[in-house]
Amino acid sequence: MTGKNSIIKSELRFIGTGSGRASLKRHHSSILLSGGNYNLLIDAGDGISRAFLSADISYNKIDGILLTHLHPDHYAGLPSLIVQMKMNKRVNDLTIFLHKSLRDFVSRLIYHSYLFSAKLKFNINFILLEDNRTMTLSKGFSFTPRQNTHLEEYREFANREGLSFSCSSFLFNINGTNIFYSGDVGGKDDLYLFKDSKIDLMISEITHVSLEEIFEAFRILNAGKLYLTHITEGDESKAAALANRSPSTIIPAFDGIILNLQG
Ligand SMILES: [Zn+2]
Repeated sequence: MTGKNSIIKSELRFIGTGSGRASLKRHHSSILLSGGNYNLLIDAGDGISRAFLSADISYNKIDGILLTHLHPDHYAGLPSLIVQMKMNKRVNDLTIFLHKSLRDFVSRLIYHSYLFSAKLKFNINFILLEDNRTMTLSKGFSFTPRQNTHLEEYREFANREGLSFSCSSFLFNINGTNIFYSGDVGGKDDLYLFKDSKIDLMISEITHVSLEEIFEAFRILNAGKLYLTHITEGDESKAAALANRSPSTIIPAFDGIILNLQG
């Protein structure tokens, strides 16, 4: 059992591995990536604060939150998470990384949750992401976003004011290890967004792309290991069947798994 202060330097921790469907077995998809003393939370969906309690992680260990897109299983827990930080007497700045088209909505969401800067003892900074622009978080820890097609299905609503269709996949680099995280995708082509890079570790969602397509991408990308996430209860056996094809390299993730990235 790990204690509240025991986030080690370079690791990837699956906080939630479920899909958009609420489940008692899996929290919504979320990953905590730690490198060079920087702790980055990827997504903060509904129930993220309880997921932190389950993982026995202090809210105030988080330096930054990266939002992939605005489906509620990926962002709807954000105001509550900030409330937990406030109640736990946070003083360190919190950085929110998000695509530039999401900033207005998210800052208003925080404001309309009565989380005024004058009432908080810490600053909330926004860092706006652009495609292909690499963000360096600390020595040996960086990431690059690229837009995917997950939200293309809403294009017919493009005339609605202020609506963003931004959803990103990411390549993280920690101590030289390249991690491709699909995030939520629109189809198999999104799995190749970083095919120009060597991929050591691939983390793919399994809800919006077939297991066969993921397997093929894993082979073509020649990634070292594949973790499956965003798993609906009905898809558990399918994920297990895919892993059975190569148990040493394909692993269905579950909440609480920690991968050591010390290099
Ligand atoms: Zn999702």
